Amino acid sequence: MRECHWFVLLVAFALSVKGLNASAGDIDPQYRTCVKQCEKIGCIDQQCFPQCNFSVDGVSIDQPWYMQEPLYLKWKQWDCQSDCRYHCMVKREGEREALGYHPVKYHGKWPFKRIYGIQEPLSVAFSALNLSMHFHGWLSFFILLYYKLPLRQDKKAYYEFSSLWHIYALFSMNSWFWSTVFHSRDVDLTEKLDYSSAVAVLGFSLILAILRSFNVRHEATRVMVAAPLLAFALTHILYINFYELDYGWNMIVCVTMGVSQLLLWAIWAGVTHHPSRWKLWTVVVGGGLALLLEIYDFPPYEGFVDAHALWHATTIPLTYVWWSFIRDDAEFQTSNLLKKSK
Ligand SMILES: [Zn+2]
Repeated sequence: MRECHWFVLLVAFALSVKGLNASAGDIDPQYRTCVKQCEKIGCIDQQCFPQCNFSVDGVSIDQPWYMQEPLYLKWKQWDCQSDCRYHCMVKREGEREALGYHPVKYHGKWPFKRIYGIQEPLSVAFSALNLSMHFHGWLSFFILLYYKLPLRQDKKAYYEFSSLWHIYALFSMNSWFWSTVFHSRDVDLTEKLDYSSAVAVLGFSLILAILRSFNVRHEATRVMVAAPLLAFALTHILYINFYELDYGWNMIVCVTMGVSQLLLWAIWAGVTHHPSRWKLWTVVVGGGLALLLEIYDFPPYEGFVDAHALWHATTIPLTYVWWSFIRDDAEFQTSNLLKKSK
């Protein structure tokens, strides 16, 4: 229970830090005036943005969807807003730095420097590496199951959790794909897609953690365990997409799902005689330490290296160890089942 208190404290601390910094930059009156002006005339000082020359006339909100602006115009509007916000932020941060102030967050994010229009280049690169790591892990798991290990007569794998890990791989790759997109271009749509995919993979991996650690093999029991958690995750996804994207509440939901599966795996690693339990330990301890990075949220060094990017970096080696554990588990379970059947 002591760990629980510790985690609650950490979450509370993370929320308060996020809450304090979330709007420090964007409530600055000079920044606000700059953005407002820029969205109106499309320029800041001598610098003008082509994306801001969209037509805002003749489109009313209460028209049916097919009469509204085409999507490419919406993108242009989003781009204009994002360009204005970015350049006003750079301008304001320059002025603040000259006065000796520390960087502050704008719209919940630190002032990052863009590379080729990519907002957070390091987070993009690390997200893409996480995606490829999951693909590599899944592929090698697939090859092991269907080409290296013996198969049943019906050509199915002996390992009873194989289809669950396949679904897990798809959810993980989906979430890292949207993470890559979101960190390249932060607009309402990409943010919701990233958050929703993260909730989906966290919810599904929590179900998997319960099913695997309790070795639930009966279909009916699996459905009974999965149904309430799936319903909860789905409701939460609908809530953040169509009702309100409440960052604090979403963080509580995600951290709770993440921490509970880490605890489950940790307890299981402590009691099981699984030959690869040290890999579980590595992932649990590494995952816990990585979580500290997300909580100790420092501003980007040189405008690039921030805690969130480092957090995405640490999950790359952990993902490698994780898939290596999954492969070991498939091998271990298969040989157990074969021994029993002999
Ligand atoms: Zn991220």
